[in-house]
Amino acid sequence: MRTVHSPFAAAGTSAARTRVYTIRVVPLGDANKLLVSLDVTDARRVESMRSTFVANVSHELRTPLTVVSGFLEYFIDDGALDAEQRRQFARRMSEQTARMLTLVDDLLTLSRLEAEDAPASEEAVDMAELLLQLRAEGESLSDGRHRLEVICQGPALRGNRKELHSAFGNLVSNAIRYMPAGGEIVIEWAVRDGAGVFSVRDSGVGVAAEHLPRLTERFYRVDRGRSRDTGGTGLGLAIVKHILLRHQASLSIASEVGAGSTFSAVFPDWRLPPWK
Ligand code: ADP
Repeated sequence: MRTVHSPFAAAGTSAARTRVYTIRVVPLGDANKLLVSLDVTDARRVESMRSTFVANVSHELRTPLTVVSGFLEYFIDDGALDAEQRRQFARRMSEQTARMLTLVDDLLTLSRLEAEDAPASEEAVDMAELLLQLRAEGESLSDGRHRLEVICQGPALRGNRKELHSAFGNLVSNAIRYMPAGGEIVIEWAVRDGAGVFSVRDSGVGVAAEHLPRLTERFYRVDRGRSRDTGGTGLGLAIVKHILLRHQASLSIASEVGAGSTFSAVFPDWRLPPWK
């Protein structure tokens, strides 16, 4: 049996549309051969996504690990550090460890979300109460640097409270992290054209149009430095997308560089009362 890997690309098409086939020639008796062709484009794409993902995770963990191991060298040599340096280095190591823990937590969240198609349970989520909780958490993260407003004009939402809290919390935390001090955030829940719309509007740095389609990809960041400095893992919006998909909701993003962004989660009407 022979296996031939042969990429075919239709003339004038982009690499993204290249298809990959395996072709097997199986002897059939003395005089005949059977030719089997299999389209393995999707399998190849998944393989390549998996190896990119592993490379990304390794890279993300390598940086903080290098910092920690560098500082540990000093600790091994007992007389190398005075008390103040010890404290300073220990603080830096603890920051890097926290960064790794956040990354691992986000990875575990993603893999849990991928393991099951639907939330374990659903209930009528009191949105007025959830919005107040989001504001309180946002205020604690902002530490007085921004103004947060909450507008709740919609009814309860059918869904998994813990997951919705996590998705909405990510959007609020991003608004705070990508906004200079003095900015304003509006967290709103309303019904528009029959759909339930949860939105977070900020007056922050904004996102250029060419980045918008890629924002929910794992580890995609517009400004790597800013993301890291504010404790970002690059996985927040990937988690949001997953949770919304499990609630048959979609994410829409409107943004203008220097003016701010609005991230909206749009839920189908059957997730609003009256429920059957
Ligand atoms: P991160 O941990 O880097 O914030 P996310 O997946 O939450 O990862 O977001 C991906 C990228 O999208 C961010 O790195 C940032 O460049 C951009 N982004 C997300 N939310 C906002 C926002 N409210 N304003 C500006 N840029 C944002």
